[in-house]
Amino acid sequence: MSNSGRLFSDPKSRIEALRVRLLEHNYRYYVLADPDVSDSQYDLLLRQLSELEAEYPQFYSPDSPSQRVGAVPSGGFSSVAHQLPMLSLKDAFSDQEVEDFDQRVRTTLELDEVTYCAEPKLDGLAVSLIYEQGKLIRAATRGDGHSGEDVTANVRTITAIPLRLRGNNYPDQLEVRGEVYMPLDGFQRYNQRALAKDTKVLANPRNGAAGSLRQLDPKVTATRPLAFFAYSGILPESYQPAPTTQFAVLQQLKGWGFPVNPETKIVVGNSGCAEFYQYLGGIRSQLNYDIDGVVYKVDKLADQELLGNVSRAPRWAVARKFPAAEEITQVLSISVQVGRTGAITPVARLQPVAVGGVMVANATLHNETEIRRKDVRPGDWVIIRRAGDVIPELVKVITERRETELAVWEFPKLCPICNSAIERVAGEAIARCTGGLYCPAQRKQSIRHFATRKAMDIEGLGDKLVDQLVDAGLIESVADLYTLSLEQLVSLERVADKSAQNLLEQLHKSKQVALPKLLYALGIREVGEVTATTLAETFGTLENLAQADLEALQAVNEVGPIVAAHVYEFFHEPHNQAVIAKLLAAGIQPQIVTAIAAGGPLDGEVWVLTGKLSVPRSQAKKWLLDLGAKVTGSVSKNTTALLAGAEAGSKLSKAEKLGVKVYTEEQFNQLLDEHGIG
Ligand code: NAD
Repeated sequence: MSNSGRLFSDPKSRIEALRVRLLEHNYRYYVLADPDVSDSQYDLLLRQLSELEAEYPQFYSPDSPSQRVGAVPSGGFSSVAHQLPMLSLKDAFSDQEVEDFDQRVRTTLELDEVTYCAEPKLDGLAVSLIYEQGKLIRAATRGDGHSGEDVTANVRTITAIPLRLRGNNYPDQLEVRGEVYMPLDGFQRYNQRALAKDTKVLANPRNGAAGSLRQLDPKVTATRPLAFFAYSGILPESYQPAPTTQFAVLQQLKGWGFPVNPETKIVVGNSGCAEFYQYLGGIRSQLNYDIDGVVYKVDKLADQELLGNVSRAPRWAVARKFPAAEEITQVLSISVQVGRTGAITPVARLQPVAVGGVMVANATLHNETEIRRKDVRPGDWVIIRRAGDVIPELVKVITERRETELAVWEFPKLCPICNSAIERVAGEAIARCTGGLYCPAQRKQSIRHFATRKAMDIEGLGDKLVDQLVDAGLIESVADLYTLSLEQLVSLERVADKSAQNLLEQLHKSKQVALPKLLYALGIREVGEVTATTLAETFGTLENLAQADLEALQAVNEVGPIVAAHVYEFFHEPHNQAVIAKLLAAGIQPQIVTAIAAGGPLDGEVWVLTGKLSVPRSQAKKWLLDLGAKVTGSVSKNTTALLAGAEAGSKLSKAEKLGVKVYTEEQFNQLLDEHGIG
C-alpha cells in the first residue's frame, strides 16, 4: 500500500496528501457505497490527519475531511439542506479515551458524576425525517452534513418508519433522526437468493442499506429488507411538556410510533459506560443487526447545550468503537471444499488476520461466478468481513494493490478428493463432484449428517471419528456403521474401550428410528426435516416411498417438481438402494408414522392457511396436524376450512366463493381451546 502520509517530508504536503486521499475514500464510501479500504484503515488515516493538523494549526482548512462529515451528494437525487447540521461522532478506540471524554465533560459541567444515555451504534446510514402535522413530508440522507439527498419516496417504502405519527400530542413540526439498516437475517436471505439466481450479492449489510436506500426506483427499495431505529428527535422549543433528557426524547419518539433500540440504557459515570460496553460486546453476535460500537450521550439536554459542538461532532457524545468487523489481508491461495451433496465451494485461504476480535484464516467465495465477479486471484489484497457467527466473507478485492499481474484462478475440473469430474448444471450456480458416495469427502459429510441429532442422533460419533473410520477403510457408507465391531473401534487411535462400547450401544439404540428422521438422515437433496415429515406422513412406510412414482411424489403438498425428482432419483440409484437394503438387513426399523390424523377431532378436514397470523404459520399448521387435519397450500373444492389472518387476499375470496368455512384467528383460537391445544 502506498502511504501518502509518509511519502512527503514536509507537513503541509503530508496533510494535503492525506486530505486528498480521505476525500476520495469518503466519496467511495458515502456516494458509491464501494469502499476500497477497511474502516480501521480509514480511521487510522483520519487520525493521522487530525494529529498533523493539531501539530501544525497554520494549515487549518474548513474543507478538511477532519472538519466535515460524509461526502457531497452524488446528484442522482435532488439535494436538501438540513435545518441543523447532521454531525458525525467523535470516536474512542480505548477505555482511556472514554475516560478522558468523561473527564472533559465533568470539568466543563462542573459535576462529579454525569448520567449518559448509552445506545448501540448501528452500522447503517443516517437519515433525517421531517414530519409536519404528524405526516412524513421529507426524508434525506446525511450527505456532507449540511445537505443530503432527498430520498422521501424510498423511505416511504420502509415499513418501520411511520408515515403518520401515533396519538395526538405530537408537535406541528418534528425532525427525527435515526439509522436505516439491513437486518442480518434479511441480508443473508437476500444474498442466498442472489447466489441461487446467480446475480450480484451485497457486500455487507451497511452497503446493502446504503445502496438500497439510494435506488432511483423506489420499487426496488421496497423489495429490500430495510429497517430503522430512531436515535434523536428535534422538537420545536414551544412544545410542551418538553422532554428534558435524551432518554425521555427516545421514549416520546417510541410513543409516536418510532422503533427505538431496546438495548438503550441510562448509565452513570465512566464505570457505567464501561459496563455497558462489556455487556453489548457480549451480546453483539446475537443481535440481528450490525453494530460497530456504543454511543454515550450526555443525557440532560440542557447540559448538551452547554457543551455545544466542534465543527464535525458534538462535544456531548462519543462513540466507543468495537474491534472492526472488516479487515484487510492477503489471499494466499484458493482451494475447494466438497460438501455432503458434492457441492464444490471455493474457499480463500488467507494470511490470518483478527477480524472483530477473532482470527480468520479462511473466507468463503461461494461459487465460480462470484469469484469471477469479484475477480479474486491468489496473491490479492482483500477486505474480509465477519459478523456474528456467520462464516467470514470476502467483501472485495483491492485491485489497486496488485503490484504485479496475478494469474486468474482456474476452477478445477476434477474433484480434488476423488478425481471424479466436476459438473455444473446449466442454470445452477453450484458446481458438483459427480463422485457421489464414491467420493470420500461426500462420504464423510454424509456419515456426519446421518449421525446428527436431528437425524439418527448417534451420540459419540463426532467428525474426527468419522474421518478416522473412513480413512481406515472401516466404513464406506452409513450402513457399514451397523456392522462395526468393538475390536475395529478400539483399533483406532485414541478410542478407548468405554467410548467404543458406548458408541455401539448408541448405534443399537438408533435402529428404532422414526421414519421422518431416517428420511432426513439419508441426506436426499433438498429434503429437510419438514419435507421428510411430509413424505413420511404421506407414504407411511419406507417401501411405499421408495416405490412411489414421480406423479405420486409431485402430488404431495409442498413438494415441488424439483424435490420430487431428487427423491425419485435417490431411490432409483442402485448404490442408494444397496445402502438402504443393508440398513434394513442390519436391523434398522423405521417407525411407521401412523397417520397422525387417525382418530383426531379434525380427522378428514382439509385446511388452508392464509393472511398474517400472530403465530408463525408453521406453528398453526402443527396444531392442525396434531388435531388430525390435513393442511394444503391452495383452496380447492376439497378444502373444508380456511384460516384467514389479517390482510387475507385471493384465497379468502376463493374460499368464500366455494362456500368453504372461514375461521378468523380468534375463532381458530377458540377451536384450539376446545381441544385443549395452543
Ligand atoms: P461516525 O462513526 O462518525 O458516527 C456518526 C454516525 O453514527 C451517524 O451519522 C449515524 O449514522 C451513526 N449512528 C448509529 N447509531 C447512532 C446513535 N445511537 N446515535 C447517534 N448516531 C448513531 O460515522 P460516520 O461519520 O458516518 O463515518 C465514520 C465511519 O465510517 C467510521 O467507522 C469509518 O471507518 C467509516 N468510513 C469508512 C470509509 C472507508 O473508505 N472505508 C470512508 C469513510 C468512513
